Amino acid sequence: MIYRFYMPTKVILGRNCIIENSGLFKTLGKKAIIVTGKGSAKKNGSGADVRKALEAEGIEYVVYDKVMSNPTIACAYEGASVARDSGADFVIAVGGGSPMDAGKAIALLAVQDIPEEQLFSWNYGRALPMAFVATTSGTGSEVTPYAILTNDREQTKSNMATDRIFPEVSFLDYAYTEGLSLTATINTAIDALSHSVEGMLSVKASVISDALASSGIKLFMECEGELGRALESGSISAISAQTREKLMHCSVLGGMVIAQTGTTVVHAMGYPLTYFRKIDHGRANGLLLGEYMKLVEAGNPELAGRVLGIAGIASAEGLKSMLDRLLGDKEKMEPVEIGSFTDITMKAKNLANCVVRPDMVEVKGIYEASFR
Ligand code: NAP
Ligand code: ZN
Repeated sequence: MIYRFYMPTKVILGRNCIIENSGLFKTLGKKAIIVTGKGSAKKNGSGADVRKALEAEGIEYVVYDKVMSNPTIACAYEGASVARDSGADFVIAVGGGSPMDAGKAIALLAVQDIPEEQLFSWNYGRALPMAFVATTSGTGSEVTPYAILTNDREQTKSNMATDRIFPEVSFLDYAYTEGLSLTATINTAIDALSHSVEGMLSVKASVISDALASSGIKLFMECEGELGRALESGSISAISAQTREKLMHCSVLGGMVIAQTGTTVVHAMGYPLTYFRKIDHGRANGLLLGEYMKLVEAGNPELAGRVLGIAGIASAEGLKSMLDRLLGDKEKMEPVEIGSFTDITMKAKNLANCVVRPDMVEVKGIYEASFR
């Protein structure tokens, strides 16, 4: 088998890593566009640190702070026009997966005209250089070549995928995640777990991606008990700094995995849940992962056993129980919704990544069993 490993982003981790490496911004350009969400970066210290670093280096900047969760295509075009009009020559995205994905799309759209109907199939040229600050743990978007946008035309979420949108540098300081709500902490941690698990269940898995995924899964399992106890006590302060730091590593490892392997049917099935039912991305994956693992367990017991063994879990049912405990009460799904989500899933490209590839009846069965 011939395979490649490619992850060109310089990753800087640790407390105060932005301030202590402010000189890196100078290598990217002379004027930045800071792409961020409406509020969190202003509260968790990440926005202030970025501004302080830019001011220390004498770099000008403009701020685009209108990125919503699950960013829209319109948001990407609007941000790109702000970048063009202001003469920004590099992008700094600050926030969770949404500002980072918007930042990638903006970096591409700022330097080339792409018709909206070809946004996800374009032969992408260069992008503006990018620096990312991840404030959730997380999507791993800081180390992936994907920008995922809400696609109203297809009524799901679609992917701009190109090596051109690996950021040049990513800063990971877990202190920014300390104010993240318990629900957001759990949902994003489950997203990171899902990336590592799905990476191992992908036809593109390799010795290298499996090594990263295995470390990511183990880190999640080291944090899982504390997440569960925090949920029981309802107290966000029950999550220690050490766990926050581990979750950030879990996230970046998961990102490095899917940068090589892509995601599987779990993400494909999760997108309609987010699009139509506004279920958070990580939660959507977590709701589906246990039932998909049951299918893998039946179709390829050796593969399922290897993944579950790394987590120290005996069976797919055990994985599902652990996720159910963290996710709490489930949403109700009507049969008609499940029918239409199944149709959308069957068109998704990431179905082809699955070692155990479900057919339409099985996808429908996973939805039904996941919301029973
Ligand atoms: P998000 O949509 O980026 O953020 C969710 C919420 O958390 C927002 O309200 C945000 O507020 C807030 N928030 C972010 N950081 C915070 C912090 N440190 N403290 C307090 N609140 C904070 O959520 P996400 O789960 O990180 O990202 C989900 C997106 O990533 C989805 O669109 C998904 O498709 C995408 N994704 C991309 C990849 C990839 O490889 N590109 C992989 C997986 C997922 P503000 O809006 O005010 O900032
Ligand atoms: Zn994800």
